[in-house]
Amino acid sequence: MADEFRRRGVKVVMGGYHPTLASRETLRFADAIVQGDAEQAWQRVIADAERGRLQRVYRNDRFPSIERSRPDRTIFRGKSYLPVALVQYARGCKYNCEFCSIRAFYGSDLRMRPVREVVDEIERVGRRHVFIVDDNIFVDVPSAKKLFRALIPLRIRWFCQASIDIARDRELVSLMAQSGCVNVLIGFESLDEENLRQMRKKWSLKYGDYATSIEILRDAGLMIYGTFVFGYDRDTVESFDAAVEFSIRHRFCLANFNPLTPTPGAPLYDRLRHENRLIYDRWWLEPGYRYGEATFHPRGMTADELTEGCYRARTAFNTYGSISRRLLDLRANLRNPHHAAIYLLSNFVSRKEIHAKQGITLGSTTARRPVAEHA
Ligand code: SF4
Repeated sequence: MADEFRRRGVKVVMGGYHPTLASRETLRFADAIVQGDAEQAWQRVIADAERGRLQRVYRNDRFPSIERSRPDRTIFRGKSYLPVALVQYARGCKYNCEFCSIRAFYGSDLRMRPVREVVDEIERVGRRHVFIVDDNIFVDVPSAKKLFRALIPLRIRWFCQASIDIARDRELVSLMAQSGCVNVLIGFESLDEENLRQMRKKWSLKYGDYATSIEILRDAGLMIYGTFVFGYDRDTVESFDAAVEFSIRHRFCLANFNPLTPTPGAPLYDRLRHENRLIYDRWWLEPGYRYGEATFHPRGMTADELTEGCYRARTAFNTYGSISRRLLDLRANLRNPHHAAIYLLSNFVSRKEIHAKQGITLGSTTARRPVAEHA
């Protein structure tokens, strides 16, 4: 896309994770890149472009405040996006899981927008359904509670991503439900404690085991989207079935099962490279790489077994039998007609996507290679 725009004489500026964490390769395709937050840097980009003196790299000296950020949504008008407003409250995460690149991007700072500004933005957008896109909305529990209290009068339905330790605070969970939270995505990652320790996520179990925490969320009426990664040292070919069985038993609304994927900026990437276990140095540029494939050599199985195990787990979780069984949950998935409608819609979309995405080349919508060919 960038090549085509530049061929037409249009200046291309890129920002986000890729230009920040893999700047050299991005600069081959862009006239300029913005590393890290766009706030403050973007004004400089515009001013320089107007003077015809665009620099190659823009980066703030320090993390800017995100107060008074007002996203302009006019560019979405007339396009067929889902009728869900995407709103951000905070940036950063207090944790530092080994496979995650949030720290590399946002640093260790936690920055929140004033609650009043978030509420104003949601009111202005005027959507009934809101996805709060923060990587972990509970970076600061007192301010999260303040936000949820302010959301109650809006009568919206909202979705978010959070860490399982939210369950330790019943008031927090109750405020989530009261303010309209319907579905929360939680990275369980693994059922093995030693794996959690290796990925620096053992804190997940600090306040209770997974089963207890899940019950607290379901009792409050929250539907759960659980995600798992496979390929840490204690994982074997048996690990997939155990995670699928766990997800069905706990009536997860949705679940995903992915190969652990080393991304630039995450400590995991450097470790696997150092251990000489990466299959490709840069899988995202590798012409032979397909979506859903393992990118490194795990210890407890082969790379092909990792690819196939994840695909098999996704398929097993999304059978019609599993969808029907998980729906029978009066506390969360079948709590009311609205929950049931979201449950059914999201499950049918998820079921369709498994087969549509697996084996696809990055940046393409067609070139597919069936999983069986890996065997
Ligand atoms: S994986 Fe989640 S909890 Fe861990 S550092 Fe990243 S955002 Fe935070």
